[in-house]
Amino acid sequence: MIRVSAGTAACFGLSNNRMDAYPTTAYLLSGNRCLMNCAFCPQGSGDGESFKKLGRITWPAYPWSAVEEVLPAAEQKGIKRICLQSVRHREGIKPLLELIGRLKGLSTLPLSLSAWISREEEGSALFDAGVDRISISIDVVNEEAHREIKGGSLQNRLNLLLRCAEKNPGRMSTHLICGLGESEHEMLALIDKLLQAGITVALFAFTPLKGTPMENQTPPEKTSYRRIQTGHYLLQENLSSFTSFKFSDGRLVSFGDLDEELTSLLGDGDAFRTSGCPGCNRPYYNERPGQTLYNYHRPLKKEEKEKALRDLRASLSLERI
Ligand code: SF4
Repeated sequence: MIRVSAGTAACFGLSNNRMDAYPTTAYLLSGNRCLMNCAFCPQGSGDGESFKKLGRITWPAYPWSAVEEVLPAAEQKGIKRICLQSVRHREGIKPLLELIGRLKGLSTLPLSLSAWISREEEGSALFDAGVDRISISIDVVNEEAHREIKGGSLQNRLNLLLRCAEKNPGRMSTHLICGLGESEHEMLALIDKLLQAGITVALFAFTPLKGTPMENQTPPEKTSYRRIQTGHYLLQENLSSFTSFKFSDGRLVSFGDLDEELTSLLGDGDAFRTSGCPGCNRPYYNERPGQTLYNYHRPLKKEEKEKALRDLRASLSLERI
């Protein structure tokens, strides 16, 4: 059996669910119970219902034979990449090596892996097995919150990620979740450091899920998320530098000289689209259809661009954007 995100299953016709938006990456999930016990995630100690979810998304299990049948035709369904997500297995990376071999036999699409690895050598073994990109998820950016929410040391995970990036230039990604006790200064300082090391950053908004210890906590404010997306975009596109951003009590208050140019720089709306590996759009991972989206899985409509820019302007107290 292998777990398939509800959107991916619908895209492949494995379910009859009608979706408001379809993924451009095929998302698969390896494993059931996770050895980690992150307080925001139901895959560790979540109860029966919540255990079905990762983010807002459900991941029903399908027999391998069903996936084997549909995956070779993924490109015809608009799929540009396969993403294998994995719980932390008791057996380490062994089940992943086997699964990667099978997936590579079914499709020539690039394969991303988001998994727990403990050593650089494990990363090398996974690349040798045919993985295109590996994500080591940092998730929680504040050191103290990281220890409380994920357990273990933020610095150790970061060091491993940086060593892997040095060894495998341009092939490492990470997931960062906004709204888990970090300041905007901490988030953007880390984004800057990661981008400078050639690491791709995928931004997420914390999503409280029923059945987890954090179910009653609140997601980040949209305006705060827009400031982080904007900072990430300006740094990623080499349009600005972290040192020119201005903060007050940890909150971003200005992009410096670029404040007056934001309308033209962000006019296409790309800053507010899903970030991460090429081709990854993660529809509705953090919010319900119909709500203002944290991450747009498609190009923004004119009114959506205008609203995102308006909200950003109001939050920076600019007179005009
Ligand atoms: S950014 Fe997207 S494709 Fe890459 S590892 Fe994360 S979820 Fe998978």
